[in-house]
Amino acid sequence: MKLLCVLCFLCGSSFFAAALDREAFTITRYDLEIQLEPQQQRLGARGKITLRNDSTLPQKVAALQISSSLNWRSIRVDGKPVQYVSQPFMSDIDHTGALSEAIVTLPGETKPKDSVELEIGYEGVIPRDTTRLSQVGVPEEIAKHSSWDQIGSAFTAVRGAGYVAWYPITTESADFSEGNSLFEVVDRWKERERNSSMKLSLRTDAGVDEAQLMLLCNGFGVNYDTREGATQFHSAKCEYDRLGSVTPTFAMARYVYQPKSSLNLFSLAGDEAGAATYSSALEPALKFVSGWFGQPSANVTIADFADAHSAPFESGTLLMVSMAAEDSKLAGINLVHELVHSAVASSRPWVYEGLAHFAEALYREQQGGRQAALDFLGSHRAAFLDSEKEVGAALAKIDAPKNDPQKNDAQRIVGQPLATTFDETYYRSKAAYVWWMLRDMVGDDALKQAIGKYRAEDDKDPKYVERLLEAAAKRDLGWFFDDWVYQDRGLPDLRVQSVHPWKTEKDVQFITVTLENRGNAGAEVPFKIIFEGGEITKRIEVRSKGTATTRVELPRAASEIVVNDGSVPENELTNNVFEVSAQ
Ligand SMILES: [Zn+2]
Repeated sequence: MKLLCVLCFLCGSSFFAAALDREAFTITRYDLEIQLEPQQQRLGARGKITLRNDSTLPQKVAALQISSSLNWRSIRVDGKPVQYVSQPFMSDIDHTGALSEAIVTLPGETKPKDSVELEIGYEGVIPRDTTRLSQVGVPEEIAKHSSWDQIGSAFTAVRGAGYVAWYPITTESADFSEGNSLFEVVDRWKERERNSSMKLSLRTDAGVDEAQLMLLCNGFGVNYDTREGATQFHSAKCEYDRLGSVTPTFAMARYVYQPKSSLNLFSLAGDEAGAATYSSALEPALKFVSGWFGQPSANVTIADFADAHSAPFESGTLLMVSMAAEDSKLAGINLVHELVHSAVASSRPWVYEGLAHFAEALYREQQGGRQAALDFLGSHRAAFLDSEKEVGAALAKIDAPKNDPQKNDAQRIVGQPLATTFDETYYRSKAAYVWWMLRDMVGDDALKQAIGKYRAEDDKDPKYVERLLEAAAKRDLGWFFDDWVYQDRGLPDLRVQSVHPWKTEKDVQFITVTLENRGNAGAEVPFKIIFEGGEITKRIEVRSKGTATTRVELPRAASEIVVNDGSVPENELTNNVFEVSAQ
């Protein structure tokens, strides 16, 4: 009897071991026709998707998920309906906090690396929903400005996976209340889908009387169907050759459309003054971007919000931002960011988004000097500081000589390097710093030359960017890319270790300065020597866990040394000032 129970238990556990692998399939191709009925807040979709088995085992069952406010209508393979069970699946990857999951029994086994094409149909409504935010205690008033996705008669704007699953996805459950779980699931999804293609044809039932109703989406090569030349777009087509880090998004409203050179501006009635600040900020922004990053290849799109408090959102070459306020400085920065996207295509997020954020800092510098740019970068630092501190602590454990049981855990914390990461805080904020440091190291001309030679289609080898920069700068940058791009080594921790002021026989004043880097990432850092009536700034390379020494001639004895002007992100900024005691 006892043996039987053990057997039962073993059988039971092997059954669960063979449980559904929700991330076995990657959706490599979407071809969808979307019908929108704004009065009913309704979306109906039909089309084809291609599923590729990226697991190591043959798969007979696929889990397809859409927002819980949508329902599956049909799933076919080779024109024949296939069996599926539809069930709710709790996951914060959708604004409703749940998904409608179809557990599909495929007609045959799909071997690893093989693909299967499905014809699908689903429909339902997409009203504004703040469930996943209110569940973790975010007040409704705040939640609704962040969770603004909805189809509505007055205003429609819907973002894709991570916000609203309005196209099918295949993910494990994501939980907002569990630390980074939501972001981990979304990052993993984006990484799996980075080379997937999507073809969208959006259409609305709104009649011709709906003057000025316009539909737009954020894919490359966007083209609007016009009605006999009129600026009434009742349908839109978007293609995404490779999704990269882009979140497919669509919007529809009674927009005032102003096509300009390099910019499609969509504003709402009442926001004319705010829209005008974008118009007047365009020319200087365009000149700046062309000079640094090359000519924009296609128009970028900036679209207004009906609710002035909606949190801005950008993905691909679309920026959604309220134009209710007139802020010319912000308009300039926003334009620069989007125009860089149009000038430099890349499916590597740290290049695509990193360069755009770096460009914002450069534009700040042009307008308000280096300090304004460093203050801007400083506002990005908090985004990745905590996770980099964890990485620093984890690296200490990995480097531990003994077989530390925490070693595996530490390995997990040291996540994807910048070169391949889909973590937004890294590919936006940390990448902006990395580009800024590279610019300080190689100079404007070499960096511009490297960016000018960059081609997304040639960027296959992770060392491609390093080689372009090294060729332009004629300098070895391998150590820097190793510490910042190819691996996550945390941040440097720089300080003055010692100073030695001395005079030559001819009474010339010198100071020998030794800087120490206690962090795991090396950096070339500026340091400032202050003396009565002036200061001198020098730069020096300090490798990880190392020191570097240099001597500097001074007109007078030094009183203070300040390491790092803020251009190198550090774990610890409180130990950067060193008082030189009088000799
Ligand atoms: Zn961007």
